[in-house]
Amino acid sequence: MRVGVLALQGGVREHAALLAELGAEPVLVRRPDQLRDLDALALPGGESSVIDRLARSTGLFDPLRRLIADGLPTLATCAGLILLAQGVLDPAPGQQSLGVLDVDVRRNAFGPQLASAEVPLATRWGLASVAFIRAPAVERVGADVQVLAQHAGRVVAVQQGSIIGLAFHPELTGEPLFHQHLLGLVRLVARPSSRHPTLSSRH
Ligand code: GLN
Repeated sequence: MRVGVLALQGGVREHAALLAELGAEPVLVRRPDQLRDLDALALPGGESSVIDRLARSTGLFDPLRRLIADGLPTLATCAGLILLAQGVLDPAPGQQSLGVLDVDVRRNAFGPQLASAEVPLATRWGLASVAFIRAPAVERVGADVQVLAQHAGRVVAVQQGSIIGLAFHPELTGEPLFHQHLLGLVRLVARPSSRHPTLSSRH
């Protein structure tokens, strides 16, 4: 299973390592041609305004939006969640988002915390051990979006179809639950000709 890890900035290595541990093949994505023949995507945390700017300057922004909207299973953490959101509250100047996930998120919603220790989090899928770092919170959830977890009274994990969005970092604590679900989504949507013809036909 080939899982693209958006490798423009942020916690790329940790996602790649966790995916490899789970038996998937991580593919670092820095250019549009590296999006070919992927079974899933992981969008790491980091600084969302920087990732947004780099995604636009590398030409990744539009193909990413197309692939994710077309149903490529995607797991986004923290800045990755902000990148997917329809609405970004407290954005950096000029910051854009892909708008494929029907939520509004507030950046740095829990204050400027540098890093939380491992936080036990009750999720719809079971107990997880995760870390929050300058985390966003989900402030609006669209009709097709399911809430997976809350923390301190705020929504911090959601799923909309094949998109999983997390305000926190499971990869920093080695928590496999969410990446396992991503790989489960791949098996669920796997069809013989599901290798994203919209992208491959262009190359
Ligand atoms: N606060 C950061 C942002 O706005 C996200 C932090 C993170 O990814 N850990 O992008």
